[in-house]
Amino acid sequence: MIGRTRIEPLVSAENLRRTYRSRKGLFGATTDVRAVDSVSFAVMPGETLGIVGESGSGKSTMGRLALGLETPDRGQVFYRGLPMPPPGTGEWRKLRQKMQMIYQDPLGALDRRLPVLTQIREPLDIHQPAAARANEEAAAKMLARVGLSPEQGARYPHELSGGQRQRVVLARALMTRPDFLVCDEPVSALDVSIQAQVVNLLADLQAEFGLAMLFISHDLRVVRQISNRVAVMYLGQFVEEGSADDLFAEPLHPYTRALVSAAPQARSAGKAERVVLAGEPPNPARRPAGCAFHPRCPVARPECRVTAPELRSVGPARRVACHAVEAEILSFGEVA
Ligand code: SF4
Repeated sequence: MIGRTRIEPLVSAENLRRTYRSRKGLFGATTDVRAVDSVSFAVMPGETLGIVGESGSGKSTMGRLALGLETPDRGQVFYRGLPMPPPGTGEWRKLRQKMQMIYQDPLGALDRRLPVLTQIREPLDIHQPAAARANEEAAAKMLARVGLSPEQGARYPHELSGGQRQRVVLARALMTRPDFLVCDEPVSALDVSIQAQVVNLLADLQAEFGLAMLFISHDLRVVRQISNRVAVMYLGQFVEEGSADDLFAEPLHPYTRALVSAAPQARSAGKAERVVLAGEPPNPARRPAGCAFHPRCPVARPECRVTAPELRSVGPARRVACHAVEAEILSFGEVA
């Protein structure tokens, strides 16, 4: 009998929690805010997991936890099945070459005093200082690969457009041949026409370099374009997860339905009713009891105010945390 090869996740996390302590005023009471709570995920080699949710939902904290830039209070991140080394150690720094971050603001990520080609070759100069000639050639090649000319490579960051600067950031991130990128709102600061170009470039580079990605954005249209799977975050927790095709064709959680209905360009053919959310996103420091979404939920039930729903499997590669969805599916006998 021929055994099947099991593909292991490249990066995974189990039960992550990250709490921040905030103080009201100089001498006021302190409050613990759970930015991320009970989050587990797995990103397979070459796959993109999109993370969506409103501002303050914990998306960026998730990205930093995935790279070990922050330490969870509870839970564990794994790279190729092994626990992430403690931040700041030599082992962690070595691993960071394989895991890179792309931020929203490329100007903030670049050194304004250096020509961009110098900054692209910098990661190689740090790791192999003796190979100056080879580093220069590799940087020039990468510059061309991201669609920039030698003349643009000689410029300083402020002499380039936002889209060109983000290309420089991508080129620099790829110099150490990473296999995992965390992209935190990478195109949100760009014009819509430029966004599409940068997302297309990212998709091409992903295929060429075999990158896995955690793609964080509040923009469902962009997430839809690049993600294989999508997780929806609300107040630090995943409330729904599934393949991008399924989730955008038939969002199940009331929060996902509202997000998808407000982003017609992201919606797949299928349900088209507009769901308007009541109220503002709640304060993470004052998390509602039961289901945290219940004050805004159009189909909240009495138990929603008391009991938090668990993230449960409701089909192949589909998980939802909602009492109403569970009840609906149970009534059709689809969940054991
Ligand atoms: Fe709405 Fe209740 Fe589902 Fe929460 S658990 S999303 S309040 S129906």
